[in-house]
Amino acid sequence: MDHVDTVIIGAGVVGLSLAARLSQTRPVLVIDQMGQFGEHTSSRNSEVIHAGLYYDAHSLKARLCVRGKALLYEHCERFHVPAKRLGKILFARTAAEQDKLAAIEAQAKRNGVHDLTPLSQAQIAEMAPGLRASAALFSPSTGIVDSHQLMLSLVHQLEHAGGNLVCHTRFDSAQPTANGFNVTLDCDGEDFMLSCNTLINAGGLFAQDNAKRIHGLAANHIPQSHLCRGQYFCYQGSHPFHHLIYPMPEQHGLGIHATLDMAGQLRFGPDTQFIDKLDYQLDAQAKARFVAAIQSYWPALDPERLQPDYAGIRPKLYLDQGQDFVIEGHQHHGINGLINLFGIESPGLTASLAIAEYVEAQLKR
Ligand SMILES: Cc1cc2nc3c(=O)[nH]c(=O)nc-3n(C[C@H](O)[C@H](O)[C@H](O)COP(=O)(O)OP(=O)(O)OC[C@H]3O[C@@H](n4cnc5c(N)ncnc54)[C@H](O)[C@@H]3O)c2cc1C
Repeated sequence: MDHVDTVIIGAGVVGLSLAARLSQTRPVLVIDQMGQFGEHTSSRNSEVIHAGLYYDAHSLKARLCVRGKALLYEHCERFHVPAKRLGKILFARTAAEQDKLAAIEAQAKRNGVHDLTPLSQAQIAEMAPGLRASAALFSPSTGIVDSHQLMLSLVHQLEHAGGNLVCHTRFDSAQPTANGFNVTLDCDGEDFMLSCNTLINAGGLFAQDNAKRIHGLAANHIPQSHLCRGQYFCYQGSHPFHHLIYPMPEQHGLGIHATLDMAGQLRFGPDTQFIDKLDYQLDAQAKARFVAAIQSYWPALDPERLQPDYAGIRPKLYLDQGQDFVIEGHQHHGINGLINLFGIESPGLTASLAIAEYVEAQLKR
């Protein structure tokens, strides 16, 4: 049987960040069931480098987002990955929203983000012409990144270190052994077995299914999985915005906000919609809701120029409450050499390099 030190299930941005980092010190194989890396959530998101404003202090999301943001800007500079610190305007419209804005400012400080600045009405009018807001904060460290180029740079780092990415290869099951695992893979319809010392499940939306096929892993270490779709509409033609524009966050998402891509095109989304099965189709009814939500803060929106774009799916762990990332090693579930990552929704892209650093430290314990 072939042997490799570390097998990583999933070539999304998280699996690839882990692969790029761990391959500097050990042989690594990353597998993905798809024909290419990053075909699921990592290529179906807003591509925003989040500042780390909203998450509960000391949560993994808060810590890994703030650390990940710094690592990501550094990485993009070093490996020439397109990224821009566009900054973000977070705005309130009502008195109740102004209280929320103040709470977010306080939360950001607790998370170590000290660069938020309040904007006057004149500044709002100059920086976001036509935006209807009674108060706003500017976050200068929020930015955007080209997620495809980021993943490509991670694949290059992995391969440069001698590691491998193999696509069209599905993780089937794993059996713990004295020194690690015997792993069964499905390579384009053919079963293939190999052994490894360390197995990392970075399967995103499929992480729970994968975990159920790791023998000996207790069911109470496999959280529930709920799919929450987020749809985007792009805005064709010119627009007045140079910064990202965010309303107050909602229960399961950040509200229908405006982001820009590397070429400066404006897009709106994502909304939130729990679904029963993996389905990236856009919901035709969504446009009216998008128009109403956007016009409530940008009345000048021309609905004719708003066109369906794409959808991504958040791997939620709960239907009715906020959640943190769940990253479990042997100290949690008792199986040496196994790391499971669950619920890696936003800000997982921003946090990806910090998640890799965190997992490497867990493996050393
Ligand atoms: C709508 C939306 C907007 C978002 N916006 C942002 C944002 O602006 N900024 C931000 O920081 N984060 C954002 N996120 C979060 C971010 O996109 C994710 O946290 C991140 O992409 C997760 O990466 P991943 O590698 O864990 O998952 P994925 O990209 O889904 O990768 C998992 C991979 O594992 C593979 N896989 C699974 N099981 C198997 C198996 N058995 N065998 C082989 N391969 C397998 C899959 O094929 C897949 O390629 C957003 C998410 C969504 C849904």
